[in-house]
Amino acid sequence: MRTLWIGTKNRDKLREIEEILVGLPYTLRALPDDAEEAPEDEPTLEGNAVSKATFYARQRGGWCLADDTGLEVFALGGAPGVKTARYAGPDASYADNRRKLLAALRGTPPDRRGAQFRCVVALARPSGEVVATAEGAVDGVILEAERGDGGFGYDPLFAVDGRSFAELTSDAKHALSHRARALARLRPSLLELI
Ligand code: IMP
Repeated sequence: MRTLWIGTKNRDKLREIEEILVGLPYTLRALPDDAEEAPEDEPTLEGNAVSKATFYARQRGGWCLADDTGLEVFALGGAPGVKTARYAGPDASYADNRRKLLAALRGTPPDRRGAQFRCVVALARPSGEVVATAEGAVDGVILEAERGDGGFGYDPLFAVDGRSFAELTSDAKHALSHRARALARLRPSLLELI
């Protein structure tokens, strides 16, 4: 079976991508712990997804899939957006980022707490050339307090139909998540191009 590298050093994203792509005729491979990390300084999610896929495809000398994800809160003009991972600073933990988001929205009423998760995935050949990209998004609201202990990142604060992503099973999250939607759109390319 052919190998597809998953171009992320985030173990939570890796686990979700592996779960979502289960059944594809590829051997999915994670980056080694000591792999140099791709730069992530483009102004858009698409730019970062492309640059990560290119970087890791060349680094590994193989086909590579990478994703870049942003949480866009409408009352904050789309922030944290492309800075989602580092919202509370360069070494921010998930909890730091959630605290900063709750503080930024303090006093914002429930009907003005709309947000979306947006995910762009990119597929690169071993040469680094990107041959396909796809995007997926999901609308929700930012809760006033954390709920649930599943998922990762902002999941305890992001709710769809009254339930936070951290209250969902993995399968339930993948039935509607930004990442699963983006990968569903990329699936034909994954099957055709490799
Ligand atoms: P990046 O795509 O590596 O730039 O990471 C974006 C950041 O968004 C991550 O560090 C997480 O904090 C957050 N994030 C990405 N995907 C999810 C998700 O599915 N649920 C909750 N938070 C997420």
